[in-house]
Amino acid sequence: MSTTSFFKTLFLTELIQGLWVTLRQLLFRPSITIMYPEEKTPQSPRFRGLHAQRRYANGQERCIACKLCEAVCPALAITIESDVAEDGTRRTTRYDIDLFKCIYCGFCEEACPVDAIVETRIHEYHMEHRGENIMTKDKLLAIGERYEAMIAADKAADARYR
Ligand code: SF4
Ligand code: SF4
Repeated sequence: MSTTSFFKTLFLTELIQGLWVTLRQLLFRPSITIMYPEEKTPQSPRFRGLHAQRRYANGQERCIACKLCEAVCPALAITIESDVAEDGTRRTTRYDIDLFKCIYCGFCEEACPVDAIVETRIHEYHMEHRGENIMTKDKLLAIGERYEAMIAADKAADARYR
């Protein structure tokens, strides 16, 4: 053992240096710990969380059953069936998103020509029973109705970058 190593071992200098790094962080640097869920980090308007289906202001569904979102989805998470509605427009009779398959890539939102399917900022959700991972059309529309103000504000904030 060299003399330098001997003294380093004897006086535990490397251990003390390591402890000083910890102490310096504790005493002189601001804490970066977030006390979640009371505290939350800022979110981007582009945050890709739980999906929603939107309606126009007059209550009409935006979705025109073009199936672009289904075609573009890399995880094959979207299942759509469609038919012609009484007013002659094409509408979905089934619109399911399997959240277990979804990778939250946002491609469905990008592909949609009428801003019908969107990913919201909602990320605090869970499932308790089998089958709750399937977001049906009714569930998606209900989320869209509930959070339309937030969705519209996020779309407006991001519009200039598109
Ligand atoms: S976010 Fe991506 S993976 Fe999820 S449904 Fe949309 S396209 Fe599919
Ligand atoms: S959500 Fe948009 S992309 Fe998907 S079927 Fe409806 S209109 Fe087409």
